[in-house]
Amino acid sequence: MLVAAGTPGVTVQRVLSVYGYDDAPHGHAQIKFENVRVPASNMVLGEGRGFEIIQGRLGPGRIHHAMRSIGAAEKAMDWMLARVNDETKKPFGKKLNEHGVILEWIAKSRLEIDAARLIVLNAALKIDESNAKGALKEIAEAKVMVPSMALTVIDRAVQSYGGAGVCQDTPLANMWAQIRTLRIADGPDEVHLQQMGMNENKRGKEVTAKLNWQKEEGLRLLRESGVAQKSRL
Ligand SMILES: Cc1cc2nc3c(=O)[nH]c(=O)nc-3n(C[C@H](O)[C@H](O)[C@H](O)COP(=O)(O)OP(=O)(O)OC[C@H]3O[C@@H](n4cnc5c(N)ncnc54)[C@H](O)[C@@H]3O)c2cc1C
Repeated sequence: MLVAAGTPGVTVQRVLSVYGYDDAPHGHAQIKFENVRVPASNMVLGEGRGFEIIQGRLGPGRIHHAMRSIGAAEKAMDWMLARVNDETKKPFGKKLNEHGVILEWIAKSRLEIDAARLIVLNAALKIDESNAKGALKEIAEAKVMVPSMALTVIDRAVQSYGGAGVCQDTPLANMWAQIRTLRIADGPDEVHLQQMGMNENKRGKEVTAKLNWQKEEGLRLLRESGVAQKSRL
């Protein structure tokens, strides 16, 4: 149901912060609806079909969040590289990029961003082949994996800046707070993982039968060849 902001009975009680950051005006608010009246034509799709609308929006929304998370991770990586190449920052006489652990952060970040980018691409291809409904699994994979990856990369960048990383001198602290919400928004990670786990687990009986068949077949071939089975130990 579409309700115009100025409709009588609609009160914006307060705007909500994100990890203490002011998120207004594009963020979210606590809104009270009291005896609000709108014309029946304001109904979208039809009575009892709200869930359909939500589901229709969520798939594309989730992959969009994953794409933005890739962008945030790349940006964090840029900031980290700038920091560790800073000629004026030389703990123990060496630039940060000459300390092995920092190179490892850079390598892992590149690896994780590139892997996550492929997960998103895979979901996008699947949507193109069918539609968002046909790509539920692939979208869920991207939705769960990419924000967590981005948080790890941003966190390494924060660490490379020390105290400057957690204050307003870089965009990193704010970026971390924004991306953190994506592990909750559009369904928390746990719910997606539970669904993915249940779906994957459906193969349980089938793979057990396959493994048993492989075992029996192996024994049969040994018997046929006249080879006695030996204990692996
Ligand atoms: C910044 C932000 C923006 C948002 N934007 C929108 C928006 O634009 N539109 C919109 O409709 N909604 C939006 N949301 C709402 C969002 O979809 C919900 O916050 C989210 O679905 C989780 O619901 P909840 O907050 O009621 O938490 P709850 O349902 O109370 O869940 C709390 C926690 O319980 C655990 N949990 C819940 N269910 C399970 C389960 N089945 N198995 C195991 N653990 C579980 C999880 O750890 C979860 O984080 C937004 C949320 C945030 C934080």
